[in-house]
Amino acid sequence: MVALSVFDGPGGRELLDALILAGYLIATGYALVLFIAYRLHRRRQAAEARLRLVYASFESSLQGAMICDTAGAIQEVNAAFERLTGYARSEAVGRNLRFLASTRHDPEFIERVFDSVTERDYWEGEMWHARKGGELHPVQMTVSAVRDGGGRIANYAASFVDITERKLAEQRIRHLALHDILTDLPNRKLLRERAEAAIARAQRDRRLVALLFLDLDRFKNVNDSLGHTAGDQLLRQCAARLLGVLRAADLVGRQGGDEFVVLLPDLVKAEDAARIAGTMIEAVRRPFAIGGRELRLTCSIGISLYPQSGADFDVLMQNADTAMYAAKSGGRDCYRFHSGDMTRRASERLEIESELRQALESGALSLAYQAQHGLRDGELVGMEALLRWQHPRRGALSPMSFVPIAEDSGLILPLGEWVLREACAARASWFAHGLRDARVAVNVSAPQFREPGFVGVVERAIADSGLPAKLLELEVTESVIIAGVDQVSATLAELARLGVRISIDDFGTGYSSLAYLKRLPVDKLKIDRSFVMELPDDPDSCAIAAAVVGLAHSLQMRAIAEGVETERQARYLQACGCEEAQGYLFSKPLDAGAFQARYLGPARGP
Ligand code: C2E
Ligand code: MG
Ligand code: MG
Repeated sequence: MVALSVFDGPGGRELLDALILAGYLIATGYALVLFIAYRLHRRRQAAEARLRLVYASFESSLQGAMICDTAGAIQEVNAAFERLTGYARSEAVGRNLRFLASTRHDPEFIERVFDSVTERDYWEGEMWHARKGGELHPVQMTVSAVRDGGGRIANYAASFVDITERKLAEQRIRHLALHDILTDLPNRKLLRERAEAAIARAQRDRRLVALLFLDLDRFKNVNDSLGHTAGDQLLRQCAARLLGVLRAADLVGRQGGDEFVVLLPDLVKAEDAARIAGTMIEAVRRPFAIGGRELRLTCSIGISLYPQSGADFDVLMQNADTAMYAAKSGGRDCYRFHSGDMTRRASERLEIESELRQALESGALSLAYQAQHGLRDGELVGMEALLRWQHPRRGALSPMSFVPIAEDSGLILPLGEWVLREACAARASWFAHGLRDARVAVNVSAPQFREPGFVGVVERAIADSGLPAKLLELEVTESVIIAGVDQVSATLAELARLGVRISIDDFGTGYSSLAYLKRLPVDKLKIDRSFVMELPDDPDSCAIAAAVVGLAHSLQMRAIAEGVETERQARYLQACGCEEAQGYLFSKPLDAGAFQARYLGPARGP
C-alpha cells in the first residue's frame, strides 16, 4: 500500500512513468542484447560454414593449390597438390616453395615471379615443376597476393594445373603444320625455313648450300599396278633410306607425290653435293620389299647450289627442278647440276678422287727428284721430291691438278705420308751409297701440316728409313705459316727438335708476316718461279728477287731460287747473294733411277 501510495502523492505520476519507461528500456535493451548475441552466433555459424565450404573447395579443387607466407614458406597445400607433385602435405608444409621449381629455370625466375606479384598482386604463366621423383612437368600457374587490413601482403596463394597433355597437343599441332603426314618428313614450309637459315649462314661463312630435287623414276607404274597402299609404303621406305644416307645437319623433305627435296647446308665444294646425290641414287637402287614382293626403283636428282645457281630459296628450287628434268632426259637414274659445266667438273673431280685412291693403293704413284745446286760452285746440295701420277687414260697428270683434290677429300693424309716415307727411303738408300750431304726436300700440304699426328708421321718416316734427320727438309707454303701462329710454331719447334729443316716454298706469292717469320725456326726461303722467270730483264722481278734474298739473310736464313732456266737468271741470282738454285738449267725432275744414275753414277748404285 505504502508503495502504491507513493504514486498517489505529488510527482507520483511522473515516477510511475519513469519506472515504466525504465522497465521498457531495460526490456528493450535486453531484447537487443539477445538479438545481437543471436546474430553474432548466426554469423559465426555462417562464417564457419563458409570456411568449411571454402576449405572443401580448396581441398577438392582439381588444381594444385598452396598458401605461403611472405617469405615463400608453404603453410597449406591441398589434395591435388599432393597428387600433382607427389609430395605429402607433411613433406611440403614448412618448406620454401622454390623447391618445386625445376632447375631448368634460372635462379632469378622465382624472384621475378615474386616481384611481379608484389607489384601487381598477380602473376600467371607457365613453369616447370619437378615432381618428387625428379620428373619434370609443365604447369600453368597463378600466384596472387593476399593483403591484410593494412594493405600489407600477408600471404601468397598459388594454384596450378598440369599442362603436359596440352603441351603435347600443341607440339603435335606444330609438327603437323610442318611435316608431311605420310612420311613424317618436313614439308615445304619447314624446308623453306631451314633453307633460308642455311643460306644466311652460308653467306656469312662463305660456304655452299645445295638443294637436291629428287624424283622417283616411273613411280606411277607402282601406283597403277600395285595400288596406292603399296605406293605409300614405297614412299615411306624411300624416306627412311634417304634419311639413312644423310648427315645429321642435312634435311630431307617431301615435296608431294614422289618428289623429295634434300637440303645440304654448309658444303665446301660442289663435289660434296654430287657425292651425296650418288649415295642417294645407290640407296634407292637397292631392292624394296613391298607386300612380299621385291621392287626395283631408280631416281633422278637435280642439284642447285647457293650461291652459283641462285641467291634465294625460290630460285634454287626452280633450278634444282630444271636440273632434275635434265637428269630425267639424260636417261634417269643419275644426277645433274643446274649447269652442265658444274656437272662435268664435279663428276671429273669425283672420278679423279676415286682413281687417286686406287693409284695410291696399287702403287701407281711415283716420285721424281729434281736437283738443287749451290750457285757458287755448282755442287749438288739437295733434291726436291715431286709427286708423279701416270694416269691410265689421262696420261701424266700434274700434281697441281690432283693435289688440291686430295687436299679437299682428306686423301692428302695417306698420300702425303706415302710421299714422305718414299722420299726418306730413297734418300737413305743414296746415303748408304755414298751421297752424304744433299738434303731431300718434301712438299707438305697445309691440311697435312695441321693434322695433329703430323710430327709423329715425320718421326716414323725418319726412323723407319734410317735417314739422318738433318737430311730431310720440309717445304711448306706461306699459307701454312700464317694460319694460327701458335699451333704452327709449336709444330715447327718439334720438327726442329728432331733436326728436320724447313723451307718456305713459293715465297713472295702469299702473305707472310715478317714479324711471324722472325720467330719461326725456318731455314730457307724459296723464291717463287714467277719472279725468277723474268730475271734479269724485268725490274720488278729483279727487285723482288733481291729483296727476298736480303730478307732471308737478315733473318739468318738461306735463299734458293726455283725454276731457274737460263745462265743469265743464275748469274743475276748469284750476284744478289742467293745461295742455291733449282731448275731446268741444271736438271729436269728425274725418276729415282735416272737421278741415281746421274748423281751417284752407275757404279755406285744399289
Ligand atoms: P713446287 O713445290 O713449287 O715445285 C716446283 C714445280 O716447278 C715442279 O712442278 C717442278 O717440276 C717445276 N719446275 C722445276 N724447275 C722448273 C723450271 O726450270 N721451269 C719450269 N717451268 N718448271 C720447273 P710439279 O712437279 O708439276 O709440281 C707442282 C707443284 O705440285 C709443286 O710446286 C708442289 O706445290 C706440288 N707438289 C708436287 N709434289 C708434291 C707432293 O709430294 N706433295 C704435295 N703436297 N705437293 C706436291
Ligand atoms: Mg716445292
Ligand atoms: Mg715452288
